[in-house]
Amino acid sequence: MTKRALISVYDKTGVVELAQKLSQMGWEIVSSSGTAKTLASNGVAVVEVADLTGYPHILGGRVKTLHPSVAGGILARRELPSDMEDLEKHKIQAIDMVVCTLYPFEETVRSGASLDDLIEKIDIGGVTLLRASAKNYRHVTVITDVEDYGAVLEELASDGDVSLETRQALALKAFALTSRYDGTIHSGLSSELGISEEKEPPIRMPLNLEQAQPLRYGENPHQAAGVYSLPLSDLPWEQLAGKPLSYNNLLDLDGAMRGMALMQQETGAVVLKHTTPCGMAQGSSLSAAYKKALECDPLSAYGGVIGLTRTVDLETAQEIGSHFTEIVTAPDFQAEALEHLREKRPSLRMIKWNGGRLSPWQITSTWGGILIQEDKPAPLPTEGSGEWIGQPRPDLWDDLVLAWKAAYLSKSNAIAVVKDGATVGIGMGFCSRLFAVDFGTAQAGEKAKGAVMASDAFFPFSDGLERAAQAGIAAVIQPGGSVKDDEVKTKALELGIPMFLSHWRTFRH
Ligand code: 5GP
Repeated sequence: MTKRALISVYDKTGVVELAQKLSQMGWEIVSSSGTAKTLASNGVAVVEVADLTGYPHILGGRVKTLHPSVAGGILARRELPSDMEDLEKHKIQAIDMVVCTLYPFEETVRSGASLDDLIEKIDIGGVTLLRASAKNYRHVTVITDVEDYGAVLEELASDGDVSLETRQALALKAFALTSRYDGTIHSGLSSELGISEEKEPPIRMPLNLEQAQPLRYGENPHQAAGVYSLPLSDLPWEQLAGKPLSYNNLLDLDGAMRGMALMQQETGAVVLKHTTPCGMAQGSSLSAAYKKALECDPLSAYGGVIGLTRTVDLETAQEIGSHFTEIVTAPDFQAEALEHLREKRPSLRMIKWNGGRLSPWQITSTWGGILIQEDKPAPLPTEGSGEWIGQPRPDLWDDLVLAWKAAYLSKSNAIAVVKDGATVGIGMGFCSRLFAVDFGTAQAGEKAKGAVMASDAFFPFSDGLERAAQAGIAAVIQPGGSVKDDEVKTKALELGIPMFLSHWRTFRH
């Protein structure tokens, strides 16, 4: 039996070659008017759908392939005698392959077309062809993407048929396309008509997220991913050198940029691993700040990400070049610094960040849903904005603020220990605040003596302060707000540890 392919494509790329090859393999080609014209004028033998159905295209092309002969030819279950009898009775020819690229609705929305244009670009017959052939994937091959022409032709040439496995995969791809297509129509039309959903979420998401940059894969290689920006916002960074950015690089970069934003008033450096800092410091020069940040945990800094708040000079570049680092980001790079790092570390990703961001929202996925919150930083503590418990220590104020920033940037529960303008211990991501204190002070070791400590949320009990005192901590900053605040304050006074209550919790879950 002659195999039959129905080809109805908006995007005519590659269609002549596809039809030619199918013809050479003995397939009969049936096409809607525009596609048939393209094929015939290129010497391909083609039957017009109108000749197959005995019914002309009507309504200026609104109805072209919508006909029981077409739908029946696609949907018939070949193993069901009654279906095959129906085909015979109504003189319907079976269709074994559907090739269809839809009207470009999304592009039409983006071009700012009129409502009339939008409506005309709602593909009806094409979607029907796709849904019907995808539904009957056991017998029909459906191709929706020019990119798939080659693989299907190759399979036909080598095996004489398209395997069930390929037909299943192509059917799923078709349903993914039609569901996305309908979603785009819904959002495009609702914004054009100015009609919003009845139950609108309080935060209005942009209707069409634009992919700003494709990614090879997500957090793990089995997860597809991309960088999306809100419409009209450009990437706030420019990559100057190194390997392409991965999904995990971008997550880490987010942490680096947040760290840089927190320290923008100072000459500062932050070294991160897996989105959390392993060192943060400020200094008299950029290289001094970087060296101090690195010293906090040089072991963990291996393969990390560096954020710097000033233009990278040669001295800093030389320091950076002597360690293995994935990314360095800064407001700019001096030419000789860039050259040095390009030569010394060709894979190092160098990112110039303009201080902007992709979105004013933080969007996190949760099982079956999306959580959205304002991406709004807490204000930096000032001595006037909080309350000292015990004797104030203005001499330690700068270190307290840096500790607050490091705790803010770290995953909760977070404790940061700072001395002389640099973190010396960071306990983060612990389920108990006490473990975070223990880790932070243990990492600081002898340097904890006379250092300051910040906590990203209140101390629920006074034991955290007791451990801090044992380690030699000289002052503490924390938001306060625990039901046991009185007990904690009394303990701070008793231990002689001045404690500043900032009143701002800075969780990062
Ligand atoms: P052609 O250029 O071959 O005339 O038209 C191809 C386009 O028409 C394809 O994008 C296909 O999805 C679409 N199409 C196929 N059948 C119908 C139909 O019955 N009605 C409408 N509106 N579009 C169709």
